[in-house]
Amino acid sequence: MDKSFPLSGWGSVAVHAGHEQDPMYAHLVPIYASSTFVYDDAEQGMRRFSGKEEGYIYSRWGNPTFTEAENKIAALESFGIDKNGSPLQVKGQLHASGMAAITTLMLSTLKPGDKILTHFSLYGGTEELITKVLPPLGITAIIVDLRDLNKAEEAIKKDAAIRLIYIETPANPTIQCVDIEALSNLAKQYKLITACDNTFATPYLQQPFRYGIDFVIHSTTKFLNGHGTAIGGIMLGSDIEFMKTKVYTLAKTLGGSANPFDAFLLINGMKTLELRMECHCHNAMETAHFLEKHPAVAKVNYTGLADHPDHYIAMKQMRHPGAMLSFELKRGFQGGVDFMNKLKMCVRTVSLGTCDTLLSHPASMTHYSVPKEKKEKYGISDGLIRMNVGIENLQDIVADLDQALM
Ligand code: PLP
Repeated sequence: MDKSFPLSGWGSVAVHAGHEQDPMYAHLVPIYASSTFVYDDAEQGMRRFSGKEEGYIYSRWGNPTFTEAENKIAALESFGIDKNGSPLQVKGQLHASGMAAITTLMLSTLKPGDKILTHFSLYGGTEELITKVLPPLGITAIIVDLRDLNKAEEAIKKDAAIRLIYIETPANPTIQCVDIEALSNLAKQYKLITACDNTFATPYLQQPFRYGIDFVIHSTTKFLNGHGTAIGGIMLGSDIEFMKTKVYTLAKTLGGSANPFDAFLLINGMKTLELRMECHCHNAMETAHFLEKHPAVAKVNYTGLADHPDHYIAMKQMRHPGAMLSFELKRGFQGGVDFMNKLKMCVRTVSLGTCDTLLSHPASMTHYSVPKEKKEKYGISDGLIRMNVGIENLQDIVADLDQALM
């Protein structure tokens, strides 16, 4: 594509951004399955190693297939955002998983003695990192309901060691949302840094950089890849120098680097992100309405429904309320087991972000061994079903749910 052509639509950016013409004229970026890269002469090797010349050296440090994925996600996360009158610049560092990206974020921005201010509903792996892995390194977390801004400010005022506000919105598994703009403004007032896990929303539904967030994280395993074919993660930042130095150096040293095949799958998955998210969200809204009226269902949790406590915040910062919802069955634990066993098209599994509809019953699956009090804290009742609404035809999704709810 001629780079001087200004792409005005989100879908065009998703298809074309990040792509460089292949020297052998391949249509798509090749899978650069090469652990190392060669030099024309010793002098070029010297220039590459000293940083005087840009170029690839060793795939843990960078690879052309990673670069296309990084640049595409950076273009999508910054699309249409201006900073001081110029387009916002964002840089991404691709990782082997979302957890590897979060680890790089924590270790590149925090030092022993620093504290993280965060909320209780986080992806389990992130919670584990914050509560078990980081404390022995001298980094601890304060957990507050960040939907209450007064509580957030109170915590900041009380503890001068807080350095990072870390949010996940919508959060896994509760789909709770926090106000990105308000928390970003609060952080700026107290000179704190901010990071947002944007996995559930994707840049199509929500762009945290628009609200002044410093770092964005994705588990690309989910909607960005979109087909459940690869694990991956990315850390993005608008401080390009920091990304190129501290983050790059740390990421390549920790070694949680991506691999070219997974990066290739990610690049091609992202090209249909807009179409997929439109369909996911339409189907989720209609499914929520169907479930609301079903006699076997006690309650539906979907931020698109006006009675959801986070409806207002979700609609303020998201294009659509997303693909994730949960619902409670009146028949409790056994109702959940029976329902899961009767599904015919929708898939019984955890995870999210794939084309097919995925359902899980936390009480008999992911949270089977979790103590009751902890389950209650997360709002996980015995009859709760979690659902990633897929992009199949809506009538098939509803028909399968209906027959399984009988
Ligand atoms: N963040 C969120 C919101 C997630 O849901 C997950 C995984 O489910 C992760 C991060 C971790 O990502 P990965 O499994 O790619 O390491």
